Formats: sequence, structure tokens, C-alpha cells
Amino acid sequence: MTKTLPRLSQFWEEAIVPALVEYIRIPAKSPHFDRDWRSNGYLEDAVQLAARWCRAHPLAGMALDVVRLEGRTPVLFAEIPGTGGSGETVLVYGHLDKQPEMTGWRAGLGPWTPVIEDGRLYGRGGADDGYAVFCAFAALRELQEARRPHARIVVLIECCEESGSTDLPAYLEALAPRIGTPALVVGLDSGCGNYAQLWGTTSLRGLLNGVLTVEVLSEGVHSGDASGVVASSFRIARAALERVEAADSGLIKDAAFHAAIPGERLRQAQLAAQVLGDEIWRKFPFTGEMRPMHPDLAELVLNRTWRPMLAVTGAEGLPPASSAGNVLRPGTALVLSLRLPPTVEATRAAQRLKEILEADPPLGARVRFEAGQAATGWHAPQTAAWLESALDAASMIYFGKPAMWMGEGGTIPFMAMLGAKYPAAQFLITGVLGPHSNAHGPNEFLHLDYAKRLTACVADLLTAHAARAG
Ligand SMILES: [Zn+2]
Repeated sequence: MTKTLPRLSQFWEEAIVPALVEYIRIPAKSPHFDRDWRSNGYLEDAVQLAARWCRAHPLAGMALDVVRLEGRTPVLFAEIPGTGGSGETVLVYGHLDKQPEMTGWRAGLGPWTPVIEDGRLYGRGGADDGYAVFCAFAALRELQEARRPHARIVVLIECCEESGSTDLPAYLEALAPRIGTPALVVGLDSGCGNYAQLWGTTSLRGLLNGVLTVEVLSEGVHSGDASGVVASSFRIARAALERVEAADSGLIKDAAFHAAIPGERLRQAQLAAQVLGDEIWRKFPFTGEMRPMHPDLAELVLNRTWRPMLAVTGAEGLPPASSAGNVLRPGTALVLSLRLPPTVEATRAAQRLKEILEADPPLGARVRFEAGQAATGWHAPQTAAWLESALDAASMIYFGKPAMWMGEGGTIPFMAMLGAKYPAAQFLITGVLGPHSNAHGPNEFLHLDYAKRLTACVADLLTAHAARAG
């Protein structure tokens, strides 16, 4: 295995980086951000680029297809027969659709302008999640060249992830006979706490959002005339929010939005806090004297992975500051985004949120909550001992440090789908979205050295899986 990393690094430089450079140039925005994705054809360009590359770097016995279900984004699907193992299947997941441009890119950088600087490949979609298909193929190529056995592998690369993977269930259904029942799922679309070791994602938070609307008048009136007689719609909205969230602490009050945190996850949060230190909060662009929500680092890890948290992400009924008069406005609408613990069922939580906000409206005001998205999070099943030790060993070999486990604060709908579909599977959910890699924001980059080492870890994991299953 001593040749694994040098060989993979060379393959990355010669074959993968040029393909990713080409991929970054394609504005393959997810359907949610490009309503005309069909006529624009960028998703098709991205999937064709990846398919061409895979055919140019074939794996022994592979069957590769771009699968297209009517009216849906395409899927790149590959089956690679096993060379060992006990006939088990490993599913490797990634996606090719991208987030939109966003503003704030540094001079010289841009979403569709690939730039390599200090070992980082800048541009939209390289890290989230264009690298995944190349990483999977490179790991398998390494195994086949070194004659290291692997089980049967299926690689599924979708083009709808940034739109909530709404096309994925149909493909899981349509491809079910070809996928089989995976014993191990490797998801290459997550984060890493640092670039110094391998990170496994143990959980994802869920998300529910919607619009809270408070109406008090049929039209705006002079606030000098009306205030004291007519309650402000903003005050009523504040009171409604206070039922959900304590304004002084950010604590979400109702038990329906909380989950018991398993003991193992508490221990892993302590460990992650020790390893990451202040970087847990320093990675955010705080202003001035602003401090994080808790002085204890492990509490911050748990806050962002296992606790419900509310953000108000938009408003209506409020004019911009420069054109606000002394008016008692007819109403206020606030967009609420509530992150949920991994194990809280989102649809039920949305119903509960509506009940709390709409119950007994103060002074008979019209208070409504229209739920929008409701996505349940994901909690990994208990990690099997062989998987834990295989990842630790790989991380020691390629990084010189043990593997780490941590929850992620975001929501990835496909994980809930895969978790529900393959309840008996083991999971390695990992990725290259480390500090400052800024997927979804400006200056997104792929940390190339980390991606190479991660590829080597994936190769070793597949070897360990085959050895165990054999
Ligand atoms: Zn992604």
C-alpha cells in the first residue's frame, strides 16, 4: 500500500484535475436554480463530461450508463463486478448539479472560472460535489491495478441534489434491480472538520421552513393616530416567535423539537471539540466583539448538530430603512427556518410549529403559518467495529492521525432517503467540505491534497470491506 498514495496523486494530477477544470466551467446549476435546465443543457454537458471521462478510464467489467427517466434530471450509473468479497454490494454516491453563482468572489476568481492556487482548485462544484465520481473511479482503478479485491460496486451520481434530490427516489426505484441491497453506502458529499484526518459524518440535522404572517389592519395608517389602539404586527410576530424560541438564549422551547442525544455522540462531540479547538467558531466571519453562543466548544458542536435552532431568513411587509415612514403597517411576514435534531420527524414538527404559532392569536390578530420544506435529518446506524477500525487504519496511513466522527449541521435529503431505503447498511458519509471550502458561497475550493488522501482512504475501505465480507 506504500505506492497507493503516490500513484493516486499522479492520477489525480494527470487525469482528474484537468477534468474538474473542465467541469467547473459548466454552469450546471441544479433545476431549482435553473428552471430552463433542459433547454440550457448544462446538466447534460456535466453528465456527458463525466461519462466520457469514465469511459476513457474504464474499470474491468464495468457497465456504465447515463440513465434518463422521463421529465427528470439524468443519473450517471456504473456497475463494477466484484473481484472479492462475498457477493455484497457497495453503493457509492455523489452528484454533479451545482449551487448558483453567489456574489463575493475574490478578484480573479468566479464560479465558472477554474483557478488553481496553493493546492486549491477554486470554482463552483469542484468540492460540492464534482470530485465524487472521479474519486470513486480513481479508488477502484487503484484497487484493480494493485490486484486488491473489492466487492461489487455500484456508483450512482445524481443531478438533483441541490434541489433536494427530488428525482432520486424515482431512480432508486427504477434502478433497484441493478443496485441490489447495498451492505455499505459510501456518500462522498459531506464535510470534514479539518484537512488533517479522515472524517465520518454521523448525523445530519433536519429542516423545516415556512412563512409566518401576522395581519392587523386592512391598510397602513398613521402610527401617531393608531399606536396604542392598534397593536403592531411586528410585536405580535415577536410574541409568536417567543413561544417557539427564547430570545435571550436561542433555546427552542417545545419538547417536540428536541431529541435525546445518544451517549456515543456526546463523547464524539467532546473529542471533536478537543481536536478542532477554536476553529469550530473562528471559521465564521464574526464582526467586532461578537462571540459564539456558548463558551464550551463541545456545546457548540452539539448546538450545531443535535439541537434545534431558529433563523429568520426573510421578511415581507417591511419597507427598506430608507423609505420607512411613521406608519402602523397592516402586517408582517417572516420566513422561518428551523433546523431540527437528526431524529425528529420533520412533517410532525411542522404541524407542531403551526399549532404553537397559530394558537390563541393575541387581540384576535390574523396569524398564520404556511409550512414550506420539511426534511427529516439522518442518524447513522451504530458503526460496525470493522468499519470503525478500517477507517482509523486508513486515516493513520494517509494522514498520520486517527479518523474522527462528527455530525453535520446541514440537511442532505438523500441521506434520509438512503437511510430509510437500506436500513441494514453501514455508512461512510464523508467529503472534502472542510474549513473555508465554502460550498454554496463565494470562493468555493477543492483542497486537492485532501481529496487525494481521501481517495486512498476510500480504496483501503473497499479493501477492508471485501476482506471482511470474504
Ligand atoms: Zn453536495
